Amino acid sequence: MSAQIIDGKAMAAQLRAQIKTRVDAIREAGGCVPGLAVVLVGEDPASQIYVRNKERACKAVGMHSEVYRLPAQTSQVELLALIDRLNVDPAIHGILVQSPPPKHIDESAVIRAINPDKDVDGFHVINVGRLCTGQPGLVSCTPKGVIHLIKSTGVEICGKVAVVIGRSNIVGKPVAQLLLQENATVIQCHSRTKNLADMVRLGDIVVAAVGKKNIITADMIKPGAVVIDVGMNRTEDGLFGDVDFEAASEVAGYITPVPGGAGPMTIAMLLQNTLEAAARHV
Ligand code: NAP
Repeated sequence: MSAQIIDGKAMAAQLRAQIKTRVDAIREAGGCVPGLAVVLVGEDPASQIYVRNKERACKAVGMHSEVYRLPAQTSQVELLALIDRLNVDPAIHGILVQSPPPKHIDESAVIRAINPDKDVDGFHVINVGRLCTGQPGLVSCTPKGVIHLIKSTGVEICGKVAVVIGRSNIVGKPVAQLLLQENATVIQCHSRTKNLADMVRLGDIVVAAVGKKNIITADMIKPGAVVIDVGMNRTEDGLFGDVDFEAASEVAGYITPVPGGAGPMTIAMLLQNTLEAAARHV
């Protein structure tokens, strides 16, 4: 059996085109152009690339983009003052502080300071609470992209066993909540899970979000399963996911590659969240 590859890059491009059409229509109607502010503290090279990509993506769909590149020694008070300003800026509908900030910054305090209705990362405890209680709110981007990828296969989520490997606040937990909302029976695995292979083998849907190359091997995959690989593991030989892609492709029904699967969907979902935040604001 050879799995169908889920092309996250193509799907993200299609979503970005749809978002651009909506932004163009808002502008032509004289409406409020969605605006995203990205704040980067320090000079972390990977973060600089992520922020540049977000800025480019935002401009490419015609959104208003503001990027604040602050020196590494910026104090918590200065950062919170900037967030306070952005919270009340009518041109800004989404605020994102690039993670990780320098060590002297309390990241959870920074997230708490963001107006939940502008929290396009979906990390604010109010948005997490909304997600867990089934209320409308901003949902974090990578998990939202994962659900799009699963739905693109046409496989119904309702009633299926979904195994999520990883329980971080930014990926594993929100993915599990979203799958629960879609009426899957969810098994959440983590570093203390015993018999990981036995658990994963139950999954009609498998979402791997660990950060360990090839931790999910082909023998763990139920034949025909939908496999979404969120892992991003940089090695000297390139970028790899958490799933042994070549071998797992022989067993799974659908599988995402790394790169080109979950990654590109994250920025598309950020744009979608900014659009949603702007629409709600209006
Ligand atoms: P994280 O905060 O380090 O969480 C990793 C999770 O994996 C933890 O819950 C951990 O369990 C679990 N884990 C570790 N070893 C395990 C094992 N042997 N068996 C089962 N579970 C194990 O990482 P993250 O932020 O969620 O990110 C996960 C991966 O996704 C990383 O590779 C990251 O780069 C990638 N990522 C990709 C995107 C994207 O846009 N595609 C976005 C975000 C993250 P414990 O909780 O017990 O420690």
